[in-house]
Amino acid sequence: MGQGGPDESDAERKMRFLFGLRSRGVTEARVLTAMERVDRGLFVRGHFADRAYDDMPLPIACGQTISQPSVVGLMTQALNVQPRDTVLEIGTGSGYQAAILSHLARRIYTVDRHRRLVREAQGVFQALGLVNITAFTADGSHGLPDQAPFDRIIVTAAAEDPPGPLLAQLKVGGIMVLPVGQSDTVQSLIKVTRGQSGYDYEELRPVRFVPLIEGLGAE
Ligand code: SAH
Repeated sequence: MGQGGPDESDAERKMRFLFGLRSRGVTEARVLTAMERVDRGLFVRGHFADRAYDDMPLPIACGQTISQPSVVGLMTQALNVQPRDTVLEIGTGSGYQAAILSHLARRIYTVDRHRRLVREAQGVFQALGLVNITAFTADGSHGLPDQAPFDRIIVTAAAEDPPGPLLAQLKVGGIMVLPVGQSDTVQSLIKVTRGQSGYDYEELRPVRFVPLIEGLGAE
């Protein structure tokens, strides 16, 4: 059978998935191991479930998308998460990125403006026993002041500039990875490192994300 055909076994599918990640630059062993442990199929429902192991973004509820696995891998790698870290994710979506981070860090806070997405993601976290993730419905452009500061912040929706509250909630020595740019054009993935006396910005690669929108969603 051809790639991804119906006769492909689970093991073959997993091999193809991991090989695809490596060939696109996801080479860090810890990140690959975490991604091997999290079955993307559990985060993609209905119609597109059979494409879960392809390296493409897919639609989820509320008109949002689960990111492309290689982009999830590259962002996770750029975040350089350490085992004792507390991580904030803005844009829970399906919960896939948070589930991967949960294997790499001590504590994950993740927020989404759609309560339906948060509820569904919480169901998957619970089913997988990922007890170190706390998901909230909130407008993430304000960050999460009560839990701040964070060692790492990852934003999986594009803002025109890095939101000020998120910069402020990053620890000194901390790293934030986020797409910046207009929502309907190609954006830049940026890595922000907070030093003693300011912020250092590094442009990583072009990406395409749904926009960061202020306020809560309708459902
Ligand atoms: N990380 C997700 C993909 C997220 S798609 C995954 O692994 O599946 C981007 C998400 O950002 C969407 O679910 C959208 O609802 C959310 N979002 C957009 N603006 C937001 C905001 N201001 N606060 C919180 N979440 C936001």
